[in-house]
Amino acid sequence: MNLAERDQNVIWHPYTQMKTAALPIPIVRGEGALLFSEEGHTYIDAVASWWVNLHGHAHPYIAGKVAEQLQTLEHVIFAGFTHPAAVTFAERLLQILPQGQSRIFYSDNGSTAVEVALKMAIQYWNNLGMPKKKIIAFRDSYHGDTFGAMSVSARSAFTAPFWPYLFEVEFIEVPTAGKEEESINQLKALAAQGDVAAFIYEPLVLGTGGMIMYTPEVLDQLMAICKQHQILTIADEVMTGFGRTGRTFASDYVQHKPDMVCLSKGLTGGTMALGVTSCSENIYEAFLHDDKSKTLFHGHSYTANPVACAAGLASMDLLLQPETQQSINRIVQRHAAFSQSIKALPQVLEVRQQGTILAVEFEDGGTSYFSNLRDTLYSYGIANGVILRPLGNIIYVIPPYCITDAQLDQVYQTIRGMQEIVTGKRHHPRPYLDMLHD
Ligand SMILES: *Cc1c(COP(=O)(O)O)cnc(C)c1O
Repeated sequence: MNLAERDQNVIWHPYTQMKTAALPIPIVRGEGALLFSEEGHTYIDAVASWWVNLHGHAHPYIAGKVAEQLQTLEHVIFAGFTHPAAVTFAERLLQILPQGQSRIFYSDNGSTAVEVALKMAIQYWNNLGMPKKKIIAFRDSYHGDTFGAMSVSARSAFTAPFWPYLFEVEFIEVPTAGKEEESINQLKALAAQGDVAAFIYEPLVLGTGGMIMYTPEVLDQLMAICKQHQILTIADEVMTGFGRTGRTFASDYVQHKPDMVCLSKGLTGGTMALGVTSCSENIYEAFLHDDKSKTLFHGHSYTANPVACAAGLASMDLLLQPETQQSINRIVQRHAAFSQSIKALPQVLEVRQQGTILAVEFEDGGTSYFSNLRDTLYSYGIANGVILRPLGNIIYVIPPYCITDAQLDQVYQTIRGMQEIVTGKRHHPRPYLDMLHD
């Protein structure tokens, strides 16, 4: 049996209908933006392995730092104990995080980073003796797959079986072009009712929602309303963090700074799982009390795992090198030029870009997320040696920053090819987004 067949006997894959899925592609090695399969095929990782990889696969510098840490201290309980990697990483994160962040709480992934932020926000108001109940989120948002994170995410087909078990959330429109007023008015109306504990949002780009983008200006207006009504703001930068939007954090484009920030994905450069929830001193202080019931009773076995922190530190070293910023700028410019060249093509509904994130929305040909176009586009990419995982009719590129110009050309060429195979007529105006609201 080859690896894919052995996999089929024992593995249940994420977001995969195991009955109809093709055999998984066995990857045995990675280098730079490339992944190599057991059969000798080469793939350009244009989605950075689900948006996590920043500096390329099996990066020797990160690998060296991780190996060193593994031979020094692999793990230690993080209640009552500490270690150099966690402290140094926290110090250095606070230096680059948006202004106003002063404490780092470690967890394991993006979903747990969101859970922690929600618990901090709710308990903050409890600890102050003015419990507020409501949480506000964007209608098309995605904040993770655990129950709290699902609750603040779009009520989409992905979570339908769980709707009865999710806590109530007030959803507002995403303030995309033309919808700014509606979104602002909805937030104002909710804020005026009082009782709002927090607003959680993906700054500038809603990833899983379909790479939906909105401006820093309108986010600033939403933030101003929150500040005015003492609503805590939680920036979920799990996807947008660490250079994706062109700046270190998407929040760097905005004047008003969040009270909390959630990080994961690029946090370790894509090396291993780690989550961070940072918060302002103000929030932290609300938990300082002689009364032990005011404690944040949350933690995971692997909280602040030293190996993950070492990977995070190494990735940050690379991120802060001028060469990396140059690469980011290069990708931003090349994406912009490519956008210009395809946006008028007949099958292209819209091209969106924020920094290194590029999204192309195709005519759907009368399909939906669960039908053929998505699979056709995906297979076409694979056949052309490029990993692109469409969200329904939306194809996007989030490359590792080390991707070469030649590799980017191949990615762009593949997207052009996709445009040619999308021949159907449009049935829904926004098929993927419609699905989200079914
Ligand atoms: C991926 C993602 C999450 C969830 O992170 P996981 O590590 O997959 O649990 C949360 N928020 C956003 C914005 C994400 O893109």
